[in-house]
Amino acid sequence: MSKVKYYYDSDSLSYRKIERRKRTTFKYAFMFILASALFGFLFVFIASQYVESPKERSLARELHNMQLQYELLNKKMNEAENVLANVADRDNNIYRVYFEANPIPEAQRRAGFGGINRYKNLEGFDNSKLIVESNKRLDILQKQIVVQSKSLDEIAVLAKEKEKLLAAIPAIQPVNNKDLKRMASGYGMRSDPFTKARKMHWGMDFTAPRGTPVYASGDGIVVRADSGSTGYGNHIRIDHGFGYISLYAHLYKYNVRKNQKVKRGDLIGFVGSTGRSEAPHLHYEIFKDGDRINPMNFYYGSLTAEEYSKLLEHASLENQSLD
Ligand SMILES: [Zn+2]
Repeated sequence: MSKVKYYYDSDSLSYRKIERRKRTTFKYAFMFILASALFGFLFVFIASQYVESPKERSLARELHNMQLQYELLNKKMNEAENVLANVADRDNNIYRVYFEANPIPEAQRRAGFGGINRYKNLEGFDNSKLIVESNKRLDILQKQIVVQSKSLDEIAVLAKEKEKLLAAIPAIQPVNNKDLKRMASGYGMRSDPFTKARKMHWGMDFTAPRGTPVYASGDGIVVRADSGSTGYGNHIRIDHGFGYISLYAHLYKYNVRKNQKVKRGDLIGFVGSTGRSEAPHLHYEIFKDGDRINPMNFYYGSLTAEEYSKLLEHASLENQSLD
């Protein structure tokens, strides 16, 4: 119960009750609440500078974890960079050398991004350096992968070409060794079987019985299968591409027609003695870019070292050709 206060009224000469006005009461109450609130806020604010809230603690933990993860990512990028550097090294020093392509300069592989600052939006934070550096490494890594990938695409195309070239080159002996009586004559100066004069023999003569199978020495297209060239009799020419043409002369019979596609080892005809020929044999020539070259240099695909040296010995004998 609040005290009742009185005052002396000199007009009425009596004590009168002091009436406390309601507004004043309200004003005091308001002032008290405001002061308490201010004090409270001040206290919380000061305290918050020194004491972490549970939410702050959890955020700090998260940040720490994130920094840790960034470090781990950087370690993984180290590994990726090492692996890629190894692939690039093999690419430059083995694959590109093997397929006769120029190595890609290191500067081109590692080229950065000049001009505009791509990382502006990442700057201005406590961890900006870490984040910008990581982003830069990843961007460079990405670009290196693109360069490497393009290089391998190029190598794949070259490898395909090389495969075609290897399949096309007239690299096997056109008559099977077991059917061969002997290597009658090689490429070089020989005496002519008809005139006995020494003259250039532009191919190799393989002596074999009439009807012995003759095989295509490389992949290609039959460009001729006729007897229209003087001296050769029934003959076949195969265009292998890359400037190579092989010629098979004095045939008894054909097994292919003009414009037919053939694979190395396909049966194309049979040994005979048509045209300017003394006895059944296959006269075999190889053209490279229009010039006749020694077929002896092309049998690496089919002969053993022993067979090859035997053939070489026979081919270099200064004997008489069968033409
Ligand atoms: Zn000949």
